Amino acid sequence: MRNYLKHYINGEWVDSTGSETEEVINPATEEVIGKISLGTKEDLDKAVKAARDAFPSFSQTTKEERVEMLENIAKEYENRKEDIIETITDELGSPLEISENIHFMMGYNHFSQAAESLKNFSFIEEHDGHTRMKESIGVSGLITPWNFPTNQTSTKIASAFAAGSPVVLKPAELTPFAAVILTEIFDKVGVPKGVFNLVNGSGSVIGDGISSHPDIDFVSFTGSGATGEKIMKNASETIKKVALELGGKSPLIVLEDANVEEAAKAAVGHIATNSGQVCSAATRTLIPASMKEEFEEAMKKSLSEFPVGDPRQGNHIGPLVSKKQWDTVQSYIEKGIEEGATMIAGGTGKPEGLDKGYYTKPTIFTDVDNQMVIAQEEIFGPVMTVLTYDTLEEAIETANETIYGLAGYVYGKDPAMLRKAASGIRAGRVKVNDTEADFSSPFGGFKQSGIGREWGDYGIEEYLEVKTILGYP
Ligand code: NAD
Repeated sequence: MRNYLKHYINGEWVDSTGSETEEVINPATEEVIGKISLGTKEDLDKAVKAARDAFPSFSQTTKEERVEMLENIAKEYENRKEDIIETITDELGSPLEISENIHFMMGYNHFSQAAESLKNFSFIEEHDGHTRMKESIGVSGLITPWNFPTNQTSTKIASAFAAGSPVVLKPAELTPFAAVILTEIFDKVGVPKGVFNLVNGSGSVIGDGISSHPDIDFVSFTGSGATGEKIMKNASETIKKVALELGGKSPLIVLEDANVEEAAKAAVGHIATNSGQVCSAATRTLIPASMKEEFEEAMKKSLSEFPVGDPRQGNHIGPLVSKKQWDTVQSYIEKGIEEGATMIAGGTGKPEGLDKGYYTKPTIFTDVDNQMVIAQEEIFGPVMTVLTYDTLEEAIETANETIYGLAGYVYGKDPAMLRKAASGIRAGRVKVNDTEADFSSPFGGFKQSGIGREWGDYGIEEYLEVKTILGYP
């Protein structure tokens, strides 16, 4: 049992000033695996004060000192590899190989990349007639969701540290244990007192407290659009800068000359990875009408290679994170049936033999119209919608008919068509075929998918203010 009832404030584990706690559940077994304290506004005030007190000295540390700190963090993060993998599998239900290859690796890559980006980052630029200086923004409040417990926290913390900004982190209540390991890592490598503070708690108390706190200068939030809206409203009262990484309903355009099996496998991979609980997952696959039958068959075949089951047994699809998420996904599958889409795989209820745990059947709907609810709303589970198109122009138009713009994917061979599709999609990140991830590249959304960018040097920029000096001697 992991009972983490303390917050980490000013370089120490301290008791909560409140007595409320929340249980953490393993979604694969539905068993309680530990508890956290739900912090109070008093706890938050103490953490913000510690960060504020740390600001004058931390913001003046040299680039080299911060590079060394980030490199030490990356090394110690590697030392905690097994613990991180086990913890994420227990709290999130992601299969061990996903916890290792995606969750563990993303956190590691963000710390290493921040160190690299920082080495080449210029905090002072001479221009004709003026000098520009980039200075730490001040104290940053970080609020993160449950679906990537190390990725979202690490990208924010690494960028803030690179920029010289002390932070207060509030991780998601459903998956809080990975952040405890990160805290232990920072403590071990000697991150200066007050530079990192962890306050566990609810969105309505600690999250709300962060977005409205007069001594926090910047809020970086990842989560749902509804919460993002509240944070922006709250932050406006103290004219606080906000960065929002929100949801998506990303398109995957399959071109006429694409390898059908590879493209179908990629599409299925999007709903299988992390049980489809990925903000940037492709959940609308657009295929040429002429390819329909062949593609549907290839998708069914590919899905049969992703069994659902115990995340500790090496299966590819684990459970959803919670009963609430399970209910949401079920209601969208029911909605798809009601809207008249054709269900070629999956359906409602639990997969056979998996009565315990929040397992759901990966589901594929074809004959989907882009105006249907299942094509417009973020489901956040293993549910794919497949739409057909006649011309590439039509495919691009349909791809963009959404309030979101987080990501897009294109599969095919002809470079001119690939370029046309990739540049036509209005989203912050478009991936062509099976290109590798690049942690130096900016990540963030157009439209209602968010404001701002994370990762690499763009991530660091978020935690900086630009000062112009005229006549700098
Ligand atoms: P959520 O908005 O419910 O919660 C996210 C965080 O906000 C949690 O820590 C929660 O406690 C906190 N919170 C809740 N109410 C709050 C309030 N009033 N004020 C301040 N904080 C509050 O989202 P979730 O269900 O945890 O995460 C799923 C959502 O996150 C999906 O929409 C997904 O697309 C999005 N997401 C986006 C990205 C991205 O990079 N764009 C990445 C991962 C997840």
